[in-house]
Amino acid sequence: MHNIVCIKQVPDTREVRLDPKTGNLIREGVPSIINPEDKNAIEEALRLKDEFGGTVTVITMGPPQAEEALREALAMGADKAVLIGDRAFAGADTGATSYTLGCAINKLGKYDLILCGREAIDGNTAQVGPQLGEILGLPQITYVRKVVIRKNIIEAERALEDGYEVVSTQLPVLLTVVKECNEPRIAAVADIIEAYREKEVIAWSAKDVDGDKARIGLNGSWTRIRKAAAVKPQKGKVQILEGSVGDVTKTLVAEFNKRNLL
Ligand SMILES: Cc1cc2nc3c(=O)[nH]c(=O)nc-3n(C[C@H](O)[C@H](O)[C@H](O)COP(=O)(O)OP(=O)(O)OC[C@H]3O[C@@H](n4cnc5c(N)ncnc54)[C@H](O)[C@@H]3O)c2cc1C
Repeated sequence: MHNIVCIKQVPDTREVRLDPKTGNLIREGVPSIINPEDKNAIEEALRLKDEFGGTVTVITMGPPQAEEALREALAMGADKAVLIGDRAFAGADTGATSYTLGCAINKLGKYDLILCGREAIDGNTAQVGPQLGEILGLPQITYVRKVVIRKNIIEAERALEDGYEVVSTQLPVLLTVVKECNEPRIAAVADIIEAYREKEVIAWSAKDVDGDKARIGLNGSWTRIRKAAAVKPQKGKVQILEGSVGDVTKTLVAEFNKRNLL
């Protein structure tokens, strides 16, 4: 099996700062981690490798420091790591990001699974996985919390708000995984040292990725941020209801009715 995992390096905080002029995220000076659900995607790819054999490739589009995220994935057990980076990719929105990742994945050759996290904790769009599936012309299963593979058929549980559904299709397929999927393994110290000292991170520029110039970076982005501003905290009046469950329920229903909420 060849499983490719798309990982994104994200700031180690939900306090993402925005450049007020360009509206872009400011990443400089903020400690970075692998996006949490991407770690679940790595773990799932490694679990399937443990079960069926094969290789796991991790890929990211990002600045030079994103190499650290790839080395962490190598330490967890990934076999190959590719960093796609070039000034030409700057200003990419989710569409241009997905297109670029798609071009790079096509260069990696045959694969069985493409795994993504459901959503990045900084951009929070959850668009890259599904867009990438469309670009690669793959069936896709999103919100995956459990995977079973028999021959070339995958059966996956998709998490829903109030339960789950089971979806089945043929490989190759693109999955976006949720945190309930697994518990990511912790790399051993020796593996971390090996990943930094002995393993290679392949660097690909825009030339290597060889995509349509009109579809990468800012030129290829349909999104234009016109204005960005911090959200002001909402100040609401708090009313604490006291009394028996029956009394509190009656008051609550009356309040809801008053506001036409029922
Ligand atoms: C107009 C505009 C300009 C932008 N300019 C820049 C810029 O200059 N620099 C910049 O860094 N960002 C920029 N961004 C943000 C960038 O487009 C998004 O961070 C990126 O497309 C991923 O979107 P997301 O964070 O919502 O990820 P989601 O769609 O929520 O991510 C879902 C999953 O997709 C995968 N994934 C997401 N991003 C990557 C990636 N880069 N590599 C590999 N896998 C990935 C991961 O598995 C992740 O869990 C810009 C956005 C806009 C709209």
